[in-house]
Amino acid sequence: MARERVLITGAAGFLGSHLCDRFLKEGYHVVGMDNLITGDLRNIEHLFKREDFEFYHHDVSKFVHVPGELKYILHFASPASPIDYLKIPIQTLKVGSLGTHNLLGLARAKKARIIVASTSEVYGDPTVHPQPEEYYGNVNPVGPRGVYDEAKRFQEAITMAYHTFHGLDTRIVRIFNTYGPRMRLNDGRVLPAFIGQALRGEDLTVFGDGSQTRSFCYVDDLVDGIYRLLLSDYVQPMNIGNPDEITIREFAEEIVKLTGTTQKVIYQPLPKDDPKQRQPDIRKARQILNWQPKVSRAEGLKITYEYFKSLPKDLLYQRDHKNFENYIR
Ligand code: UDP
Repeated sequence: MARERVLITGAAGFLGSHLCDRFLKEGYHVVGMDNLITGDLRNIEHLFKREDFEFYHHDVSKFVHVPGELKYILHFASPASPIDYLKIPIQTLKVGSLGTHNLLGLARAKKARIIVASTSEVYGDPTVHPQPEEYYGNVNPVGPRGVYDEAKRFQEAITMAYHTFHGLDTRIVRIFNTYGPRMRLNDGRVLPAFIGQALRGEDLTVFGDGSQTRSFCYVDDLVDGIYRLLLSDYVQPMNIGNPDEITIREFAEEIVKLTGTTQKVIYQPLPKDDPKQRQPDIRKARQILNWQPKVSRAEGLKITYEYFKSLPKDLLYQRDHKNFENYIR
């Protein structure tokens, strides 16, 4: 029997590339798609020799055509770091809105099930802690994160509308902070920022007083949660993340220990609308998917540090992704 085919958008990105690996491992034929603004072909280089993998260099904000049947569509294309949204705000809005619309249309045409990547950012700077799926959020639509947060909120709305109005088979995953190999070294996110600084022998920059919290999930755990949600019957949004919460100040200290850097932790101004606290309530994922994270931060950080150490040294000094300059306008 022919392999079932899956479309993964954002395939050359951090999460997309790990999803490609997982679906290939599960025996699917994977069609990857990416416009490579923030994605990097090095993340999927190892797949190009395979017959059960193909790749389209395409921007999903434009009409998406994929020949043949599709069983599942995973929409994971989007910039995902606050620095990226500042650099490419319009593209961030377009991929979450127009891109999602195109992929919902494709899912209808192919009679495919679609899962869209939403985010803990739909909760904004949350006033409820930890954040259950029922919380409506506290988002500033016109702040620096608004382009991402509102695109993702629109994405959830249009996905649910296609579900109720067209009977489309949909899933929505709300992803909390995730880390692991293949994160972009210079995307501005806190973990690659700290590890990059340690490897270059620079001070570690904590924003604000470092009392803000995050809860970091190792990528393999996240991918497993997404896989289970896709295969489940659950159509309401579901949080996937690791509830193990830590302040950014403590996180910096962990990175100092991990890397053995002799540099200092220094404090810089807190960016506007930076959420003060974040921790997923994962009771639904536990009950419905029988899922919970397995990899501790100590284990996950060790693997991730080894990955960053193995990268070519010139990447450490490359401040921007090479494709950014073609898109900033
Ligand atoms: N952060 C920091 N130093 C850095 C980069 C980020 O202290 O060099 C902080 C940032 O202000 C935020 C947290 O780390 O409070 C997580 O930031 P990230 O960009 O990774 O993701 P967010 O969860 O804010 O979307």
